[in-house]
Amino acid sequence: MARSFDFLVMGGGVAGLSFALEAARHGTVAVLTKRSRSEGNTVYAQGGIAAVLADDDSFERHVEDTIVAGAGLNKRSIVEITVKEGPARLKALAAMGAEFNRKANGDFDLTREGGHSKRRIVHSGDVTGKEVERAMLAACDELPNITFFPDATAIDLIRDREAPHGKARVQGVYVLLDDGVIETFLGKVTVLATGGAGKVYLYTSNPDVATGDGVAMAYRAGARIANMEFYQFHPTCLFHPDAKSFLISEALRGEGGKLRLKSTGERFMKRYHELAELAPRDVVARAIDAEMKRTGADCVHLDMTHLGKAYLVERFPTIYATCREFGVDMAVQPIPVVPAAHYMCGGIVTDEHGRTSLPGLYAIGEVSCTGLHGANRLASNSLLEGLVFGHRAVAAAREPWPALHARLPEDR
Ligand SMILES: Cc1cc2nc3c(=O)[nH]c(=O)nc-3n(C[C@H](O)[C@H](O)[C@H](O)COP(=O)(O)OP(=O)(O)OC[C@H]3O[C@@H](n4cnc5c(N)ncnc54)[C@H](O)[C@@H]3O)c2cc1C
Repeated sequence: MARSFDFLVMGGGVAGLSFALEAARHGTVAVLTKRSRSEGNTVYAQGGIAAVLADDDSFERHVEDTIVAGAGLNKRSIVEITVKEGPARLKALAAMGAEFNRKANGDFDLTREGGHSKRRIVHSGDVTGKEVERAMLAACDELPNITFFPDATAIDLIRDREAPHGKARVQGVYVLLDDGVIETFLGKVTVLATGGAGKVYLYTSNPDVATGDGVAMAYRAGARIANMEFYQFHPTCLFHPDAKSFLISEALRGEGGKLRLKSTGERFMKRYHELAELAPRDVVARAIDAEMKRTGADCVHLDMTHLGKAYLVERFPTIYATCREFGVDMAVQPIPVVPAAHYMCGGIVTDEHGRTSLPGLYAIGEVSCTGLHGANRLASNSLLEGLVFGHRAVAAAREPWPALHARLPEDR
């Protein structure tokens, strides 16, 4: 027996939940997640969400910063939509209950990140994604139209085989449940919000669910995919066989951390960029990779020892404690680090409303390729993209729906 919904959403991160919250006003919504409801990249986001909110900032500056980071390969119209609609979506999220750092006068306490020419990062301590996910799930729980299906892995899209080539509408997905049973979920609209593919790489900052399923399913069904070569690597992930997803924040280099060769202890970043350890992310990641290949080493070292234990414990409590768990005391020894796959800039090609090249199929968030990021994502633009396009896609997804075919999937 197939289950039928108006909106079928694969993914419970910022993009999927943004869509679900808006779509629930218009019909029934199923949200499928591969593991628990909250597990995905969203919950691990640390820094924050970029939005033009300060008096001395402007949409034009955020647009230009995004295009500079993206090496000019961004789609300007999409960048403009994202930047202009960002503040409203951010305020809606706060009104929903997400708590962000505020100044004494109640305004958002905006911070700045690499590549941004102004302070425009709204944040919730260093656990912004966790707070976003908490608030959005709580809001979903208030809406009877939304049903969650955790431990439900979508494995393939269902298409209407009767329709002429190019017109075949996506009708839903086949789903592998935890007990090994495969069930059919039908949707008048099918939405892929399955996040990135970091786990395809040996080292990644992403959790285990980030295996690129959405892109693979869409590709098999014939959807257009683009820019998959633009995978953003974070320069420093802890190198330890049991800790492949632990990010060593850029802030450590910001506070004076030095990258050294494992064998000789030589600092090497000055050979690559005048800003040495503070060069842009992609430059540092490529330099580390080049040195690892040149020397045959399996990692490089990030040396913080000159800063002293008291300071390190106070400034980086989580990183200090986690490194200790893996046998590394960063106060007395360097941290072994490697570059790690962090963000999928490409994905399923969509228009400005999340429509893919296949009728009935939408893609939002990290799995999509809207054109926002170009060759390289600007920090804190991805939660923003999920909020904006998750919301925008609903209007398009409400366009008149043809009837679902009764022949599926038993005749397969
Ligand atoms: C460590 C870290 C720090 C980050 N920091 C920031 C930051 O500060 N600011 C920022 O803007 N961005 C940051 N990012 C990037 C950002 O978190 C993600 O790009 C964003 O959260 C993606 O949201 P999403 O909704 O598209 O996907 P996700 O949040 O990854 O959600 C994907 C969902 O899809 C589900 N799913 C996957 N496959 C299937 C399947 N086959 N069937 C059913 N469900 C499936 C998963 O279970 C999950 O629910 C960070 C990322 C990481 C990993």
